[in-house]
Amino acid sequence: MRLDKLLSNMGIGSRKDVKTLLKKKQVTVNGKLVKDSSMKVDPNADEVLVNGKIIRYQQYIYLMMNKAPGYVSATTDNREKTVIDLLGKDVKHFNPFPVGRLDKDTEGLLLLTNDGNLAHQLVSPKKNIGKTYYAKVDGFVTDEDIAAFQEGVVLEDGYKAKPGVLKILERGEKSEIEVTITEGKFHQVKRMFEAVGKKVIYLKRLSMGDLKLDETLKLGDYRELTESELAYCL
Ligand code: URA
Repeated sequence: MRLDKLLSNMGIGSRKDVKTLLKKKQVTVNGKLVKDSSMKVDPNADEVLVNGKIIRYQQYIYLMMNKAPGYVSATTDNREKTVIDLLGKDVKHFNPFPVGRLDKDTEGLLLLTNDGNLAHQLVSPKKNIGKTYYAKVDGFVTDEDIAAFQEGVVLEDGYKAKPGVLKILERGEKSEIEVTITEGKFHQVKRMFEAVGKKVIYLKRLSMGDLKLDETLKLGDYRELTESELAYCL
């Protein structure tokens, strides 16, 4: 690929910026100063240095975020802050997008990538990937609710949700639960609880399939997936 494309893809700057770097003799390929920004390089074999720092080519990025409340799961929005606003410049240039959606007020595990194939696979209903949420619910969650979720509750629009596994962590006027569902319909968990007459007052996604939220990530923080985490997703 062209040297200027490689460097701009890796966030070094625009193609014009790259030309300036070359003029300032700040770029070497395999130890030789380069003048021509259109020079062809092999991203996997050639050693490209900018100011002595190795530039490793990476096409895809896979990020795990602990989504903060108050951000919408979109790349752009006219009124709201988006999860992309939480990303630093060093990863933004990969143009990642969120895989599926969490509501604006939902926290927890959100994947962001620029790998369309992987994103498609993870949200595909055919894959039946279980997503587990922790929720605080206004009301006393009962054994009947567990049975209703297991059977598949009927949402307000008449749609019968696929079975969900409901586990009660704490029963009381406000209950704490974990629920695993395989679908990702709009407001699905909230609507499933509404179907049994209860309101979700806090929601956090804990896992998607084998991929678990790294609880050391503070709200709004993110990191790249490790190789083994990525393997869970492929
Ligand atoms: N279900 C919901 O109701 N909201 C989310 O953000 C995710 C699942």
